[in-house]
Amino acid sequence: MNENKVMTYGDARKIARELAEDTLRNYWTPGKFPVDPIKIATAAGVEVYDSQLGTDLWGMLVGGDNSATMYLDIDQPSSRKRFSAAHELGHYMTHASADSFDGFTVKPIGSGEGYIDARSDENRGNVFEVIANEFAGSLLMPEKKFRELKESGNSDIDIANFFKVSVDAVSYRSKLLGLTCTP
Ligand SMILES: [Zn+2]
Repeated sequence: MNENKVMTYGDARKIARELAEDTLRNYWTPGKFPVDPIKIATAAGVEVYDSQLGTDLWGMLVGGDNSATMYLDIDQPSSRKRFSAAHELGHYMTHASADSFDGFTVKPIGSGEGYIDARSDENRGNVFEVIANEFAGSLLMPEKKFRELKESGNSDIDIANFFKVSVDAVSYRSKLLGLTCTP
């Protein structure tokens, strides 16, 4: 019998955080900031291209025979582009580590299949998007360092500069980690 387990957003976020930690351990020098998601993607075997994707797209990930290709829209600020790259890498890692998933089954991305991330879809609640966003936040702003910076009194702008991400990404991560209350 095939029993379908429902994955909660909490489960999805936890998986994404662990996946980001694994990815940093496998492909990055611990404690080195800012994290470069494009270098990590390349090291993981993803080809990355800057492209003119049109006004509504941040990025996309397309499956190939043995790997995947990532396209990042040229017309986005570099801090946002780093987040887009980390987000697409999250989609890739979700597939690449399908064995570690519990509750639903994912397969390698088929040739020509993939993800298209539009600015206009930013807030859609699809579990894969929640995972990719949580992965991106955890990869670029690892929790331990993030808490350390917050606790030593850095502003969101300081933290954004440190991690080379947008201030919006920092305030969203603060909220997720329950760190929004400032004295
Ligand atoms: Zn996505």
